[in-house]
Amino acid sequence: MVIFDTVTKKYKESITALEDVSFRIDPGEFCFVVGPSGAGKSTIMKLLIREEVPTSGSIFFNEIEVPKLNRRLLPAYRQKLGIVFQDIKLLDTKTLEENIAFALEILDKSQKEIKDTTDYLLDLVGLRERKELFPQELSGGEQQRGAIARALANKPDLFIADEPTGNLDSQNAMQIMDILNRINKNGTTVMVISHDLNLIDGSKNRTINIRDGRLNSDTNPKEVNIPNKQEEEKKVEKKIDSVEKKEVEISKDFDELSKSLKEKLKKFAIKTPEVLLNITNSDLKSMGLSKKENSELASYVKNYLNNNKNE
Ligand code: ADP
Repeated sequence: MVIFDTVTKKYKESITALEDVSFRIDPGEFCFVVGPSGAGKSTIMKLLIREEVPTSGSIFFNEIEVPKLNRRLLPAYRQKLGIVFQDIKLLDTKTLEENIAFALEILDKSQKEIKDTTDYLLDLVGLRERKELFPQELSGGEQQRGAIARALANKPDLFIADEPTGNLDSQNAMQIMDILNRINKNGTTVMVISHDLNLIDGSKNRTINIRDGRLNSDTNPKEVNIPNKQEEEKKVEKKIDSVEKKEVEISKDFDELSKSLKEKLKKFAIKTPEVLLNITNSDLKSMGLSKKENSELASYVKNYLNNNKNE
C-alpha cells in the first residue's frame, strides 16, 4: 500500500530531513513510526500526503506515484487518507456531530448515509452522548477521539496519526490506542507516528525506527520492490504504441464520459482510471483538453476515488 524507495528529503542544502529511507507497508498492517524529535518522522507523513515532494527516491501509495500526482488530483487523493494531527482541528463553530457530518457533506453523501455513518463513528469513539457539545466543551482526549472519528468519515484506505496521544495522560492515550487498534481490526491500514516509546511498550505491532533521517530499525522489514516502475515504462511503451496504431480498448469505467473525452483518453492510451491518476500536468497539456473536458475529467476522478475506497 505504501512504498518508500530510497527517499531523501532536503529542505535546504544544509537540512537533510530524510536520507535513503526505504520501507513497504502492506494493506491491513498497523505500523508505528518512532524516533526522537527532529528525526524526520513528520517529513514521512508530509511526503505521503504530498505536502512535500522528495529530493530523490520514489513514493507510491497503492498504484499512485505520489510525487507525480497532478495538483488538481490532490484533494481527491487525500480523501483516501485519514489524517489526524496532534493539534486537533475540529471546527469550533460546529458541534462534534456536525463536525463529523460536515466531512460527509463535502463528499455529497445522502442525508441517511450521513446520519448512519455519523452515529456509527460516534459509537466507535465512545462519544455518542457528547455529540451535541462544541469542541471547547470537550476534554483533550475527547477532542482527539472526535478528530479520529471525523478523519474516518471518508472510509480512508490508510489512517495516519501524527502524535495522536501527544498532550494526553496515559489513560486517555490508552483509549486512543485502543480505538486505533479497533480501526485496524476492522480492516483499515494504520500508521502511527510518535516520539513516545511508552506507546509501543508491549505492543506487537510493527515498529519502524527513524533516527537522524535514516531508517534505524524495522521489526518487520519487507522487500521494497517497485514493480510499478516497470509498469510505468510499459505504460509509456503502450502509449507510444497506441498513438501509432490509434486503436485502443478502454475500460468500461470510462463509459459515462463524453465521446470527445473518451477519444482523447484512447488516443493517449489511458485505458483505465488508475493510469489517469498517474499522469502529470505536462501529460495533460499534451492531451489538449478543452476547458469543459478538463473539468469533466477532474470531477470524474474525484467520483472515481470516492467510489473505490474499499477496493
Ligand atoms: P520529527 O517529526 O521526527 O520531529 P521532522 O520531520 O519534523 O522530524 O523534521 C526533520 C528535520 O527537518 C528537522 O531537522 C527539522 O528541523 C527539519 N524540517 C522539518 N520541516 C522543515 C521545513 N519546512 N523547513 C526546513 N526544515 C524543516
